[in-house]
Amino acid sequence: MKVIGADSVDSVDPQTASGIEELRRWRRALSGDSILGLVPTMGALHEGHRALLRQARQQCDQVVLTIFVNPTQFSPDEDLETYPRTLEQDLQIARQEGVDLVWVGDREELYPAGFQTRIDLPQMAQQLCGISRPHFFAGVCLIVLKLFQIVQPQRAFFGEKDYQQLKIIQRMTLDLDIPIEVRGCPLVREKDGLALSSRNRYLEDESRRQALTLSAALFRARELWSEGVVQSAELKQQSLERLDPAVDLEYFEVIDHEQLTPLEMVDRGRGAVICMAAIVGGVRLIDNIILEP
Ligand code: AMP
Repeated sequence: MKVIGADSVDSVDPQTASGIEELRRWRRALSGDSILGLVPTMGALHEGHRALLRQARQQCDQVVLTIFVNPTQFSPDEDLETYPRTLEQDLQIARQEGVDLVWVGDREELYPAGFQTRIDLPQMAQQLCGISRPHFFAGVCLIVLKLFQIVQPQRAFFGEKDYQQLKIIQRMTLDLDIPIEVRGCPLVREKDGLALSSRNRYLEDESRRQALTLSAALFRARELWSEGVVQSAELKQQSLERLDPAVDLEYFEVIDHEQLTPLEMVDRGRGAVICMAAIVGGVRLIDNIILEP
């Protein structure tokens, strides 16, 4: 496995260099018909990321994992500087999952002095997480678009854990005629139901117990759906009874799985997604569940 840009990590093989140009050189050396898959992450890898890497490994000839904690998607009061950084462990996971190249982004190289460009986003980005984090999706799309340009993969893999993000990236790719197939990977949970997230490590015991009621509420909604409940208000009201009172709910919305528009009633033949966000013990968590047709 080749690693580019992780100069500060001692255990990395000396092939290490830095930068966009080196990645481009590596890319140019690949044979023309090999399928390159990209898995963009912010590191602090867990089983959810492993699932993405595995899917990419199965569906592509070469797999690039990028690790970059992207400043443009954090607002000044968020956890940019304290976001977990576990590079040694991430490299070990990448090796185990058969990644061909790990590229660690450098903040100064990706956003040099004078950087100006911003992406203006569709309506899809102005709801759900976009309400409390108005900067977020513009920052995500900016870095994803840059990574698409730098890596030039044929396929890119994103988790359904960040459902709104996946749909916005698919929309951007379509709107801008980017020749990359954006594939979604199912959400991975802990055995007890908690959706895996790099931020779960911030949860203390009591908050973790409270956080479990997010997935409990979503599982209840899926159960109600399978029993024939189609009214969003009823799905919402009954599911939220499962939520611990200490959970500070931001939103719980029954939405169309492509347009992300709120639904009053779910069409049995089309299904829907329920997306939610909440703050638990000071940690902001998101989760979702798909109501299959
Ligand atoms: P992050 O490093 O948190 O920005 O996530 C990188 C990628 O991993 C994104 O496409 C996420 O949607 C995906 N991801 C994170 N957590 C999970 C999970 N629990 N299940 C599936 N994919 C995930």
